[in-house]
Amino acid sequence: MNTIKTRTVCIGGAGRTAELKLGGVFPVAIQTMWKEGIVPVLTDERALFSLLDKIEALSSLGCRLLRFAVPDIESAEALCLIAEHCTMPLVADIHFDWRLALRCLEGNVAKIRINPGNIGSKERVKAVVDACREKGRAIRIGVNAGSFPSDIAKRVEAKEISRAEGLALTAIREAEVFEKLKFENYLVSLKASDVKETIEANEAFAKQCPLVPLHVGVTEAGPLIGGIVKSTLAFSHLLKESIGATIRVSLSASPEDEVIAAREILSACGLSTGGVKIVSCPRCGRNGFDVHGFIERWQHKLLSMDKDITVAVMGCVVNGRGEGKHADIGITGAGDSVVIFKKGKTVRTIRHKDLNLLNKNADIAFSEELKSL
Ligand code: SF4
Repeated sequence: MNTIKTRTVCIGGAGRTAELKLGGVFPVAIQTMWKEGIVPVLTDERALFSLLDKIEALSSLGCRLLRFAVPDIESAEALCLIAEHCTMPLVADIHFDWRLALRCLEGNVAKIRINPGNIGSKERVKAVVDACREKGRAIRIGVNAGSFPSDIAKRVEAKEISRAEGLALTAIREAEVFEKLKFENYLVSLKASDVKETIEANEAFAKQCPLVPLHVGVTEAGPLIGGIVKSTLAFSHLLKESIGATIRVSLSASPEDEVIAAREILSACGLSTGGVKIVSCPRCGRNGFDVHGFIERWQHKLLSMDKDITVAVMGCVVNGRGEGKHADIGITGAGDSVVIFKKGKTVRTIRHKDLNLLNKNADIAFSEELKSL
């Protein structure tokens, strides 16, 4: 068990950007990544405001940090424009061209993610570090199993060391460069798509560099279900050892799903920072209420609310109301009706022969009852 607290990394604080502290005594922060190109925001105001609305929605779901790919100078300029209007700290993901990092740092971009292995010479890495130091920005050193330095790659290939050891050795080497430059406002990530490798690499790094906060993720984890399973296994193991200042569930799915998955993992690990908890039944042949449809319509709305409550969504009264009686509010099918209850007591009964109107009226009644909580 790693009981040593890491250093604290400060990000944000420039312009309108909120300040966020990572590592140390601070809660594990959820991160996700924007999945589209951002250049259109430079010439299309509607695209900019639509993107800002989506960032706001991600923030309401619990996202604290958002990373963007910056493959070219136009993207760097677009990211600066977004950061100018945005309160969430934004991260520029830079590969190969260190000058893109410098351009992002001219704006309010809060953190730069680089893989020093593909940035080139030590002078280029130093230029990025110096600019971050001067402007009070943070860096994430991102190391992954696909980009070992040649000497470490040879040792891995010869099976002299495992891939997890290769990842840890690479990250330790990069961290040493930052320590020599006396730059401490950085995190490290060591990513593999294999759960065991991810765990072993992060544990090995945390043992050698216990003060350096880690961003934890399983890279290319896969589609929604497979990716959540892999990430849950890796994160629950590492978080139990206090490893992980930030997490990202990397999925072939939407950023919203990534944030919801990360939030559920933190909650299941006892690291929840509050918000709405949804308890819902799987639905079976006894159902008198479309639980799946209700969850689809309400999940984002509920999880975006600033309330610490439990919401039960049940298909029928056979088990529904009993199992949901500890919920602050619940909704269940009851024969040909839909019942809304609070702490197990019925507060509304909705009836309608037309199923669509029943669902619509149930939504309206649920919304009204929710407001009074
Ligand atoms: S609450 Fe009712 S509908 Fe839902 S799984 Fe249980 S018995 Fe089935």
